[in-house]
Amino acid sequence: MAYNPENIFAKILRGEIPCKKVYESAHALAFYDINPAAKVHVLVIPKGAYVSFQDFSEKASSDEIADLIRAVGAVAKQLDIVADGYRVLSNAGANGGQEVPHFHVHLFGGQRLGAMLARA
Ligand code: 5GP
Repeated sequence: MAYNPENIFAKILRGEIPCKKVYESAHALAFYDINPAAKVHVLVIPKGAYVSFQDFSEKASSDEIADLIRAVGAVAKQLDIVADGYRVLSNAGANGGQEVPHFHVHLFGGQRLGAMLARA
């Protein structure tokens, strides 16, 4: 799938629509999810144009990959959810339920998060 620069996170990166920023680094931006699924729900995205986890894993530089992973850890620390624990998740493609076609990692915390997936 080709990257569509009109997706909502690309607009956030360009400053065309606002976000509640939590953290920014050379290659990553973190902001609160607009429709939180937990007490703490932050999205961490690369600044580069990557559609999905798969796209990022294949095309991003080592610096970009390291920066994104470190950004997730830095946000967890900043929001003080390390001691109690948290969950990191990325939806990819149709089966993953990905809605926004710009790679993003969800960071959930601030409460017990329950089972990883609902069992069928
Ligand atoms: P996905 O289903 O693609 O993994 O997750 C997309 C997430 O982006 C959803 O949790 C949704 O609430 C969030 N989201 C969608 N539009 C916006 C927006 O304009 N601003 C913010 N901050 N989050 C958004």
